[in-house]
Amino acid sequence: MIVSAKEMIAHAKQERYAVGQFNINNLEWTKAVLLTAQECRAPVILGVSEGAAKYMCGFRTVAAMVQAMTEDLGISIPAALHIDHGSYEGAKNAIEAGFSSIMFDGSHYGIEENLEKSREIIDLCKRKGLSVECEVGSIGGEEDGVIGAGEIADPEECKRIAELGVTMLAAGIGNIHGKYPENWKGLDFAALERIQQAIPGTPLVLHGGTGIPKEMIQKAISLGVCKINVNTECQLAFAAATRRYVEAGKDLEGKGFDPRKLLAPGFDAIRETVKEKMELFGCVGKA
Ligand SMILES: [Zn+2]
Repeated sequence: MIVSAKEMIAHAKQERYAVGQFNINNLEWTKAVLLTAQECRAPVILGVSEGAAKYMCGFRTVAAMVQAMTEDLGISIPAALHIDHGSYEGAKNAIEAGFSSIMFDGSHYGIEENLEKSREIIDLCKRKGLSVECEVGSIGGEEDGVIGAGEIADPEECKRIAELGVTMLAAGIGNIHGKYPENWKGLDFAALERIQQAIPGTPLVLHGGTGIPKEMIQKAISLGVCKINVNTECQLAFAAATRRYVEAGKDLEGKGFDPRKLLAPGFDAIRETVKEKMELFGCVGKA
């Protein structure tokens, strides 16, 4: 069932667990995430970056696929279809295409322009009953060409954006997209506490969930993180499983070249990763 992320995030905040956002790249990815969420009775957010949407032909194609798939698979747990790091135009296009949840990332603008554009997108989402995530400051690493440096968000800026009425807020606490560098200093929990104290009622989002040690994830959840984004980890698991299949020469045996066989180990690897994360985030059985 495709729904806004509002209720699932509010419930996560109340019960102190996190909902996983898993980014999707194609049909197999989407199916793997939805089936695992259903099996785990976990609420889930399907993240779609603008790059991934473009790869899958456009927001409308993605929305149509996800809607039809949830019906065909009988997915009864709440699932939100969420644009990840939406630009001002991208967010509007995703709203138009029928996404149920929107992230507008205005973090690369100055705070005043970020506030102004965030306010507009939040109002649009509210009118349509969609959940909305905004971002303050910059989160490190690279996602679709947006580069940051593991920055820390300013609690005052967080407060100003939260007061616009966001469903959830992405604020940098030293997290980075992609693989973490060897010399990464870890999450900045003092910064997280300052942000949480500035906006105690606002659910926080942790981006760059790949490779953050388990204890840090759990501590972040205890300090108010209600949504954690996972993207790279599923990609790495998919690639490794596909590599093992090809290196073992299985694509050369019988009909091993059939895409339904060739992509199966990667599909299973995504399911395993998603399940592991859901257990870690504490969202299993919450739907
Ligand atoms: Zn992100």
